[in-house]
Amino acid sequence: MGSNLLSIYETLLAHYGELHWWPAETPYEVMVGAVLTQNTAWGNVEKAIANFGENLSPESVANADFERLAEIIRPAGFFNQKARYLKAVTAWYAKYGYDAPAVRREPLAKLRAELLSTKGVGHETADSILLYAFGFTTFVVDAYTLRLCDRYTIGAGKSYEAVKSHFEEALPQSSNVFNNFHAVIVINAKEHCRKKPMCDGCPLSGKCERYGL
Ligand code: SF4
Repeated sequence: MGSNLLSIYETLLAHYGELHWWPAETPYEVMVGAVLTQNTAWGNVEKAIANFGENLSPESVANADFERLAEIIRPAGFFNQKARYLKAVTAWYAKYGYDAPAVRREPLAKLRAELLSTKGVGHETADSILLYAFGFTTFVVDAYTLRLCDRYTIGAGKSYEAVKSHFEEALPQSSNVFNNFHAVIVINAKEHCRKKPMCDGCPLSGKCERYGL
């Protein structure tokens, strides 16, 4: 099974190349994007982030008037809820002085537990922050990962933690591999393995049991 996952990764990577995720300038911008992308398309997140202008910093979000913050992030949808979440994630970051190296010095399990107990942070958001903002070796599972597991019959289980463990045990313990694998799963799901799959041209079509179904 491990070699199967590795072969999926290598096939997708050969096709799409390294995608250099996450598209952000700073660890804090990754954190903001990970919260804002919940239940919305990435294009809406980009509009919300652009609204910050030069003021996308933990200090400016921590000090921002709540209504003003909600207005800035309005394009991302659920803006009142997400403004609360951004304030909460930023308060978590404040414990480390808004200092990414200080976060990186802490144990992964401790940070993950802290984030999972932060308002608005579920498993996918926590792991996205830890992997893409801080470079921890923690695999991100999202709806696209679950779809791939289902269609490619990877047999990784159904729960978030089961799928995450399955990938982590099968792959080299490398944040670079985890980073790229999640990214190529997402791009392949957008280009081919859509809700209604477009299997022609899918790099996995040669081995996928659901090809053409
Ligand atoms: S061959 Fe079709 S079902 Fe299988 S991964 Fe590709 S797009 Fe999805």
